[in-house]
This record gives sequence, C-alpha cells and structure tokens, in this order.
Amino acid sequence: MLQIKNLSFRYKKQAILDNISFSAKPGEHISIIGESGSGKSTLLKLLYGYYDLPEGEIFWKDNQILGPDYNLVVGYDFMKYVAQEFDLMPYISVSENIGAFLSNFYPEEKQDRINELLKVVELEPYANVKVKELSGGQKQRVAIARAIAKEPEILLLDEPFSHIDNFKKQSLRRSLFKYLKDHQITCIVATHDKDDVLSFSDEIIVLHDAKIMAQDTPQSL
Ligand code: ATP
Ligand code: MG
Repeated sequence: MLQIKNLSFRYKKQAILDNISFSAKPGEHISIIGESGSGKSTLLKLLYGYYDLPEGEIFWKDNQILGPDYNLVVGYDFMKYVAQEFDLMPYISVSENIGAFLSNFYPEEKQDRINELLKVVELEPYANVKVKELSGGQKQRVAIARAIAKEPEILLLDEPFSHIDNFKKQSLRRSLFKYLKDHQITCIVATHDKDDVLSFSDEIIVLHDAKIMAQDTPQSL
C-alpha cells in the first residue's frame, strides 16, 4: 500500500497543498482531478521527491520512502514519473530511447522487451524513427514506454494523453491501463480527461483550494 500522510507544501507562504492524506493499494488506479492550478502536478512532483518534502510522510509497503530530509525515490526503479513536459533524446530512434532505459537487460532479451513496450504504447511503426521527427503525442508515448520499461511498482502520470488526439487516445488508454492493471502497477494519474477518470480509475481525488475536496469511486461521484 502507498500511504501519503499529512503532506503540505507552500510557495511563498501560499498553501499549494494543505494536509493531504490518501492511500493506494498495489495495482490500484487513482485519478487526481481539479481545476488548473489546484496542485495536481505539484502533488505528483512531491511524491516523486522532485522537491524536498517540507511536511508529511510517504510509505510504500510499510517502509518510509519520503519525508523531510528523507528520499528513497529519486534514482530508484520502483517508482517512475512521467511529467507534463518530457525529456527525450531527439537524435536517436524511438527504440533506442526506450532501450537506453533497459541497461539491465541482456541484448537478446532487450529487443523483445522494446517490442513489447512499443506495442503497449502503440508505436510499433515508429520503432526506427528519430524522436525529433515525432509529433508531441508520439513523444509522450515514448516517455510512457520508458517509464514502464523496468516494471515500476508505482507509476505517476501527469496528463498522460494531453498531446494525443481523441481517437488515438481511446485505444491507447485501454492498452496502457490494461497493461498497468495486468502487471499490478499502482498508478496515480493527474488528468483533466473525464473518460480516463470514469472508465478506468478505481478512485478519484478532487483537489480544491489546496485540500482534498472529495474522494470517492467513479460510480458514486
Ligand atoms: P494544471 O491543471 O494547469 O496542470 P495543476 O493542478 O497541475 O494545474 P500545479 O502545477 O500543481 O497545478 O500548480 C499549483 C499551484 O502552484 C499554482 O498556483 C502554481 O502557480 C503554483 N506553482 C507550481 N509550481 C510552482 C513553482 N515551481 N514555483 C512557484 N509556484 C508554483
Ligand atoms: Mg499540472
């Protein structure tokens, strides 16, 4: 279980997040929603240890992984984060970008794993295309493939389909979220997209005025 306890974050005295607590079971899919500026991205960044955590504690399987002056997340493989902006290597191919994150694989297994990941994010036809020649939505899918390459236990996704058209989004969403469920990867997804939320998440957290305003299953919200 991922447990977030009493997490708060301020910027110049303004509370961006105020005493946030929730938990997620292994394989569970939690959607974080709320208006622009409500703190969704900040919450994911804090969970990933991107900022020092000023207040609060985070536990995974009963072990503390984050706290003030305590960070067992950045540089570890069990939790991965795909930001709203992503950072790829433009001059090498899609396959090579993913392969660069599979340094622990034997060469003969590596290609199989790359092919499997290309399938999950529906980028097989682009395997050998240089990243600089991809669209924004295609780049976003490369970033997602890299994040799941080493089978993290927890995946944090910030607006994962924001650069992807509605038509493509539907099949991609189904493919990715099924993969995460099948592999029991806990995912926390900041999103504006009602379809992600209503069709795929187990629980919804609504942020408003720095606090959790509501928390429920998609059926009852
Ligand atoms: P969106 O839906 O537009 O992505 P969000 O819910 O992800 O919005 P955040 O990016 O978390 O919102 O921002 C929450 C608040 O924190 C905003 O008021 C923003 O101005 C502020 N904020 C975020 N990052 C920083 C930063 N690095 N420095 C100062 N303020 C910040
Ligand atoms: Mg955001």
